[in-house]
Amino acid sequence: MTAVHEVISPTTELVVASVPSISVEETDAAIARAKTAYASWRNTAPGDRARLLRRLAALLEEHSEELAQLEVLNAGHTIGNARWEAGNIANVFNYYSGAPERLLGHQIPVPGGIDITFREPLGVVGVIVPWNFPMPIMGWGVAPALAAGNTVVVKPAELTPLTAIRIGELALEAGFPENVLQILTGRGSVVGERFVTHPDVAKVVFTGSTEVGIHVAEGCARQVKPVTLELGGKSANVIFADSDLATAAASAPGGVFDNSGQDCCARSRILIERKVMDEFLALLEPAVLALRVDDPSLPTTDMGPLISAGHRDRVASFVDENTNVLIRGTAPTGPGYWYPATVVLAESRDDRLLREEIFGPVVTVVPFDDEADAIALANDSEFGLSGSIWTRDVGRALRVARGVESGNLSVNSHSSVRYWTPFGGFKKSGLGRELGPDALEAFTEVKNVFISTEG
Ligand code: NAP
Ligand code: MG
Repeated sequence: MTAVHEVISPTTELVVASVPSISVEETDAAIARAKTAYASWRNTAPGDRARLLRRLAALLEEHSEELAQLEVLNAGHTIGNARWEAGNIANVFNYYSGAPERLLGHQIPVPGGIDITFREPLGVVGVIVPWNFPMPIMGWGVAPALAAGNTVVVKPAELTPLTAIRIGELALEAGFPENVLQILTGRGSVVGERFVTHPDVAKVVFTGSTEVGIHVAEGCARQVKPVTLELGGKSANVIFADSDLATAAASAPGGVFDNSGQDCCARSRILIERKVMDEFLALLEPAVLALRVDDPSLPTTDMGPLISAGHRDRVASFVDENTNVLIRGTAPTGPGYWYPATVVLAESRDDRLLREEIFGPVVTVVPFDDEADAIALANDSEFGLSGSIWTRDVGRALRVARGVESGNLSVNSHSSVRYWTPFGGFKKSGLGRELGPDALEAFTEVKNVFISTEG
């Protein structure tokens, strides 16, 4: 008999669903079914694969409010965020529905014949999804993998499986053949681990902690299995004295506290030019105190609870009586894994508050002296996922953007993710890129074929 796992609402602490927690044997059986389905899916006409992806995108749009409400319930995301997330996965399927008929190869001039390349699918792709953005992150792996002719097994996080399960049902409703997309709920150390060790899983896409990501990469290396990794971050929000300081201060909370700071792109280090530090903090305070931390189903709420009691304890462990807290917001008491928006000052440049990913609503402020110091400080991190640069000087904006070792930077903005532009990390933030036109390369192998014309 399959074991079950209880899904808890982080807002009420009540059990909201029970889902199967499958075994290694059940995982192996699902992978075997995915392998069988691959034989016909890879040979399905490109136009038919495209049509199915478009139909699923349309169904996701039709069900976007239902999916958003499910995410509010399961993950405690604000309803505004959850609607964006449901829209994002629909957009991602729409975007990659254009791919099957456009998987072009090359024709390369050679003597004595014709040389052509093919973009072949890989086989069964395993997508391991974290709890922080269950719908988007699942879509970023699944949509291009299916478009390229692979079949897919998805391992949602144990904490947040509900939208993934529903999306799997919608895929069947859209007309996808059985076993082309399977949602396998269970433990990371069981189901996720099996994606890594099973020889019939041809590729793994992993998003989550750097620690587990390294373990996944080690396992994949043993089979020379390609892997895409989206890992942690400690991104810098670099604010120069010549910037529009009021706008930089007003937007800084959104840049780090969105999704209660449970965002790998969170700008969780504020690097501020020393001579405007006091002025900036005076502008930042009302913006932080204005954040409404409340029931995430209310449209007026800016920040919901953290995902679990354990995670809240971990976040809280970073801030103690010795921490120099500059600004602290409020949070509800009573049931729910609440934590207030918190702004702290780094004690030194080696402070763990500046180095470790907290993954909660805690942002660390540190002053810098000049442009070179700002770049050095931004790069003084094992991570390199995103970051923001605030300045009115276009030359400086470009110099700093080129100087910061990070995959996704924004100038005078905190935007990181557009489904049609590439996303991914430098250094220990990851390996490979998702989204945008090039993501299909991560789900295909190039095959070169020479045809002699001499015979
Ligand atoms: P995690 O353990 O890395 O989990 C991410 C995913 O990997 C989950 O689906 C998890 O399944 C699965 N997993 C766990 N162990 C595995 C294994 N041995 N083999 C294959 N898959 C495995 O992350 P977490 O525990 O949820 O969070 C810990 C910290 O990671 C956070 O505090 C944060 O710092 C960071 N994090 C980063 C991101 C990001 O977007 N970069 C996302 C989430 C977390 P189960 O959850 O079912 O065990
Ligand atoms: Mg874990």
